[in-house]
Amino acid sequence: MQSERVDFPSAAQKALADQRLRSNLRRAMDGLMEKRAAQFVDVDRWNALRARGENARQRALSKLPELLVQLEEKLIANGIQVHWAQTTDEANSIIVELLKGAKAKSVVKGKSMVSEEMHLNGALERDGIEVVESDLGEYVIQLAGEGPSHIIMPCIHKERDEIGKLFQEKIPGAPYSEEPEELTAMARTVLREKFAQADAGISGVNMAVAETGTLVLVENEGNGRMSTTVPDMHIAVTGIDKVVEKLEDVPPLLSLLTRSATGQPITTYVNMISSPRKEGELDGPREVHLVLLDNGRSGIYEDPERRATLQCIRCGACMNHCPVYGRIGGHAYQGVYPGPIGKILTPQLQGLDEYPDHAGASTLCQRCAEVCPVAIPIGKMLVNLRAQKAKCGEVPIQGCGGGSTSESVGWNLWFWLHASPWRYRVMARLAASFRWAIPSWLPGLRVWSRVRVPPKPAQKPLHQRLHEIGVDHE
Ligand code: SF4
Repeated sequence: MQSERVDFPSAAQKALADQRLRSNLRRAMDGLMEKRAAQFVDVDRWNALRARGENARQRALSKLPELLVQLEEKLIANGIQVHWAQTTDEANSIIVELLKGAKAKSVVKGKSMVSEEMHLNGALERDGIEVVESDLGEYVIQLAGEGPSHIIMPCIHKERDEIGKLFQEKIPGAPYSEEPEELTAMARTVLREKFAQADAGISGVNMAVAETGTLVLVENEGNGRMSTTVPDMHIAVTGIDKVVEKLEDVPPLLSLLTRSATGQPITTYVNMISSPRKEGELDGPREVHLVLLDNGRSGIYEDPERRATLQCIRCGACMNHCPVYGRIGGHAYQGVYPGPIGKILTPQLQGLDEYPDHAGASTLCQRCAEVCPVAIPIGKMLVNLRAQKAKCGEVPIQGCGGGSTSESVGWNLWFWLHASPWRYRVMARLAASFRWAIPSWLPGLRVWSRVRVPPKPAQKPLHQRLHEIGVDHE
């Protein structure tokens, strides 16, 4: 099937023109950066904690196949049923079949990026199953008919008055209010009823511990605990990359996750699910399932250059610090994962055909890599993806080699000129002599110089100037 190319530049231009969006984002990003910085004032402690987190993630990925087998064995021994899905369609079918088998008509769903990746809500609704998002931010965007614009704070782009109007319009009998407490109370009233009625709960997973067969879920609102405890059936869904080796890997990763995401030392709830309801227990689901989704992750795992992408613990710090995300927000990326992690993950999952411009939408300022709690070299990976896009490498990503002909000719010419000293010297002298004649509309310069001063070659090439002052080591 031919994939459709996402027009990221146009969407970014549109977002840039939205002043309200820009001021909302600025305020939110400043606050998040400040809160995170306050958690990591001691640089030595931050570096030590980060090294532990990075080690835990790299160790898990280095033995991913074995750990997944171990995880499955432990989960089954604990009474949790395991399902494998190669594609998002398969994962959706598994969940729909499980729900149909349980005659489920309505489900409550906790926040989960992988379920967004699967477009799970649409799949459930097509089969006549009502799904209600139980995370407040997700509930707001579900009412608005939008997707999340941030991986931690899905409605970060909305102001209180917008949410107030939305609630008034969509929740029967809800009065208009801009007060956070009142808005939360309105959502709580609706959601409590949904929790009580739901036939099943669906959640994501922050970490799956292979050693013990434990599913770890962090959250602040208690909705995750309600979704995974109140209904008789709990279905958790996660990418295969979320496995960690040991229980002792959880505390450092948890500490890094919450501090990097919201600036909290720990979240209000840390749920550790290790089995369905046991004999004699008063609550908890009678059935627990875990759906493990690949959707291109094993391809990323097999490439040592790209494997670090899977280290991500989805804290969102990279987007909070990204000068591009901070000005255009998440929707412009038109993928599930926005910001720096989205720029490396989305083209790898969906193909460069569909997302040809994401890797280029970066200043390579490296703030994302600096704040990443598990030290993913995002800048290096963006450069790698750009190279993959321009020319097929040894490990092709779907859609690589899709650069324009003029771009490819331009870079080949650049390479040819720089590969020989005499060609380089002739080019430098010609560029210096005709510097006045280089038009800014040249292909490659036109877009670049729209918001920058076009580059002008020096009046005299560096080699010539060095030669004139007596330096000649060539
Ligand atoms: S890439 Fe790093 S900073 Fe960004 S979401 Fe993942 S873990 Fe967090």
